[in-house]
Amino acid sequence: MPGATDHVVVVGAGLSGLSAAMQLAGRGRSVTVVERHPFPGGRMGQADIAGYRIDTGPTVLTMPDIIAEAFAAVGASMAEHLELVPVDPAYRATFADGSVLDVHRDGAVMAAAIEAFAGREQAAGYLRLRAWLTELYRLEFDGFIAANFASPLSLLTPQLARLAAIGGFRGWARMVSRFITDERVQRIFTFQALYAGVPPQRALAAYAVIAYMDTVAGVYFPRGGMRAVPEAMAAAAAAAGVQFRYGAEVTALERSGSRVTAVHTEGDRIACDAVVLTTELPLTYQLLGRTPRRPIKVRPAPSAVVAHVGVPAVGEHLAHHNISFGGKWAGTFDEIIRDGVPMSDPSLLVTRPTAGDPSLAPPGRDLLYVLAPAPNLQAGEVDWDAIGPDYAREMVATAATRLMPGLDDDAEILDVVTPADWGRQGMAAGTPFALAHTFSQTGPFRPANTVRGIDNAVLAGGSTVPGVGMPTAIISGRLAADRVTGTVSDSATRTIVSSGSR
Ligand SMILES: Cc1cc2nc3c(=O)[nH]c(=O)nc-3n(C[C@H](O)[C@H](O)[C@H](O)COP(=O)(O)OP(=O)(O)OC[C@H]3O[C@@H](n4cnc5c(N)ncnc54)[C@H](O)[C@@H]3O)c2cc1C
Repeated sequence: MPGATDHVVVVGAGLSGLSAAMQLAGRGRSVTVVERHPFPGGRMGQADIAGYRIDTGPTVLTMPDIIAEAFAAVGASMAEHLELVPVDPAYRATFADGSVLDVHRDGAVMAAAIEAFAGREQAAGYLRLRAWLTELYRLEFDGFIAANFASPLSLLTPQLARLAAIGGFRGWARMVSRFITDERVQRIFTFQALYAGVPPQRALAAYAVIAYMDTVAGVYFPRGGMRAVPEAMAAAAAAAGVQFRYGAEVTALERSGSRVTAVHTEGDRIACDAVVLTTELPLTYQLLGRTPRRPIKVRPAPSAVVAHVGVPAVGEHLAHHNISFGGKWAGTFDEIIRDGVPMSDPSLLVTRPTAGDPSLAPPGRDLLYVLAPAPNLQAGEVDWDAIGPDYAREMVATAATRLMPGLDDDAEILDVVTPADWGRQGMAAGTPFALAHTFSQTGPFRPANTVRGIDNAVLAGGSTVPGVGMPTAIISGRLAADRVTGTVSDSATRTIVSSGSR
């Protein structure tokens, strides 16, 4: 970035903003984070209802090393700020035929589970798939996921050829079917395409790295709930000198020629040398007074309905993460993406955070988080305000019937969040998952983190590179910092000695 970059204002204290702030502070910049909410986390949100401590956003935490890197940037240790506990099984998958498969990160344990579930051939296929996923991750991480692109041409490297050679640009579902033929087991390694906002049949195999992240590298849970992650990051950032202004909504950017010179909130003006924007893309462009470079319309990811439910303690009957697959699978994606209607035979993610930390619910109770993929507001014309409460009751009843009959009798629905609610929170097309990871919205083709014609503004967060998800949001913060300061070596970033503690 040309010119002075001494004081950087970061708009948004979600994971990408926190990560950018920590990286920039570690590189000697003075940093102010401006956040409209009274606490950090953004989409990794929180709500305290009737004695339950609810996490409203992500539930599946993978790749803790990427979080650790943000702490290391300010000379802090993640272990001193955050207690992460491995979740095993990572998921419990249940199928319409009544069969159940626990997903373990340990290769030998998982191979044994698959052998018992679907036979020796499938187990052998799994071990080959695991090696392929690991290779995919190794090839993609440094060169593609964690890198800034100068232009699409900068993709043309020997690494790209190697990625192509192992099938990275074929279809995800097709590649998995080369290793595993049991349709149920295939789902365990392809359903993650939904995290990328694309049906497995249409997703690029390159995105199977997400299946590496959860099924091979493993899933973790922070003591205190998911909110502990942004809170710990904010604490370490503050200890490293980052200033936080909460409850302050950015309303405008002041410009002089090609530079942003100040950030305005209601009643305040914060002068800056550079700005990192982690806001939703339409608001970002509006604040910058720009129209996006790409002429084509962007394609938003599908959305989700989330019901937060309190139930009498169920103990180990429910794992931490339970995926309840409906009988229909391929058709489900057509419903929510093409037809814009709710799933007729829903596949649900049922998370029991109290499995990882019982203190998140009142004594004798469990907290459940039931997520149903749903059409975004662009694809569908569902009147969520009218049907939301009934739809949520149905989701909970379906989850109960499939996983623990009778559970819904005592279920207390604490809160329901529908695509209409995500929309009211300012999320484009009513989806919290930003832009779908289609080929034309991937890597150098995704909206870039630099802004043409503005020298000192960079973007971070789910709608720019590398994309949606906790690990990627944190990486996007680092990539934004790299745009401001230039890439620095690891040792150069670890200069601040944090005074922060738990
Ligand atoms: C229901 C749900 C489930 C998910 N599940 C998973 C999962 O299991 N695993 C996973 O890895 N990821 C998951 N994700 C995705 C992940 O949470 C996000 O990709 C990530 O948290 C996005 O971080 P961000 O910094 O890009 O955006 P945000 O968290 O949205 O941060 C942007 C911040 O900017 C603030 N802001 C916006 N406008 C202004 C303004 N004008 N002035 C000041 N501040 C402003 C917002 O309040 C917000 O704090 C899930 C998300 C949701 C919502």
